[in-house]
Amino acid sequence: MKNVTSSKLYDYIVCPHRVWRDVYGPQEEKIQEANPFVELLWNRGVAHEEKIVAGLGEYLDLKEGSLQERFVATLKAMRDGAPLIYQGVLFFGNLKGIPDLLKKMPDGSYAPIEIKSGMGFEGTAEGEEEESSGKPKKTYAVQLCLYIELLQKLGFETRKRGFIIDGTGKEMEYVLDQPVGKRDKRTFWEFYEETKEQVENLLNNKAQNKPAMAGSCKLCPWYKSCKNWCKENKDLTNIFYLGRAKRDMLNEDLYISKVGEIGQLDMREILERKKKDKNFLKGVAEKTLSKIITRAEILENGSGAVLYRKLYLPRVSYELFFDIEDDPTQEFVYLHGVYERNGKAERFLDFTARDNTLEAERDAWQRFWGYICSLPKDDFAVYYYSHHEKTTYFKMQKRHYDVISIEELTAFFGSSNVIDLYKIVLADTDWPLGSYSLKEIAQYLKFKWRDESPSGALSIQWFNQYLETQEPKDLQRILDYNEDDCKATMVLKDELARLDDLISN
Ligand code: SF4
Repeated sequence: MKNVTSSKLYDYIVCPHRVWRDVYGPQEEKIQEANPFVELLWNRGVAHEEKIVAGLGEYLDLKEGSLQERFVATLKAMRDGAPLIYQGVLFFGNLKGIPDLLKKMPDGSYAPIEIKSGMGFEGTAEGEEEESSGKPKKTYAVQLCLYIELLQKLGFETRKRGFIIDGTGKEMEYVLDQPVGKRDKRTFWEFYEETKEQVENLLNNKAQNKPAMAGSCKLCPWYKSCKNWCKENKDLTNIFYLGRAKRDMLNEDLYISKVGEIGQLDMREILERKKKDKNFLKGVAEKTLSKIITRAEILENGSGAVLYRKLYLPRVSYELFFDIEDDPTQEFVYLHGVYERNGKAERFLDFTARDNTLEAERDAWQRFWGYICSLPKDDFAVYYYSHHEKTTYFKMQKRHYDVISIEELTAFFGSSNVIDLYKIVLADTDWPLGSYSLKEIAQYLKFKWRDESPSGALSIQWFNQYLETQEPKDLQRILDYNEDDCKATMVLKDELARLDDLISN
């Protein structure tokens, strides 16, 4: 029987297939080299843990020794009433856990504490009170539950609560017998029990599941392997926005598993059945279903992109194709890139922070706004892709409120000449692609990035490398990558304008 560990529970929540594939998947297809961005996050996590531990004061360090020795030492330390234990080891049956800390509570029980470098709660907006606005992260909650179950099984009576020390060093309590959410009435503990059972079954090959193309795949060592599987099997997750849950439902309720089979569906019959049986295709509305059918047809028949309505694309002297590079894990924006087109003249402008200080970030942003203000009023348009730029700018405004006021920023993004092309792509177009990311669409339109592995995540790693080396070539790689992102936005805008012309003619 294979061990259930906290990392297996974590993996299952990020991707339910990963647990099975790690053990039974084609090992030769798994990428062995660590992704540099994942490595960067890992190193940051380690540095953060070291910093927190250094400030703990007195604690019992059980980091060294074999797992068995550490297990014996952990039990002894708890029996002796040690106030704080670092890297203790807990085993029981097929459960194994190494909590960062075990803290003795006033009632004599022990509570697990995990040190994390991210936010302690889900969706905590900047400036809000975490306790009131956030809710426990499932990934953290299941890990704490595993440690608590181990403590209980080993005879250390404990309540269903644990703690997370987050990236800011703040300790947050996780009450694990509270409901997962407003709609999901299961408690975190029940959620953990279900997750654990699934993980046990997958680890021991009593259950199997399939890959599914999702956002989490990009950083996974199985990305190429699973992508090929989905392609070869014409899996339904090749259809844009049709994720694992809907794929599984379509598989089970309609007995279809391939993109090509969607064309055989009889919409009228399906809707009749939906009326009679509430559990049939539960949560898949008519609109969603018809989108799935349309996208499957576009994927299958190989025709080009489709634009569904006329667009407003302003006729102006200056068109700016704009993209930022930032490190969301540190809330730091290091580059504002603009590819400017003025008639036939084109040029790339960068507003870059050359170090990771607040002053450098502020200076780059101020120069960017200086440039925007220098353009002829109402005679320029700005194109960007996805809400990320807007969201990040509003967050940054709180850090640098003297650069631009909230009213000016709101007016900027509210202007009809400042256009998020992703909104248009999502609402008004379809493409014969499984993903509508800028990379996928621009490559489909034959645009090529100069970098062999272009990615926003890697750009963060390159910037960190530049901070260390101060080598101009390291900075140039980021600038080239950003310029290509901006140009890709221009290629997309031009294609939308072409499709728009076809509608008018
Ligand atoms: S590539 Fe995607 S589907 Fe495959 S194991 Fe990784 S996260 Fe899961």
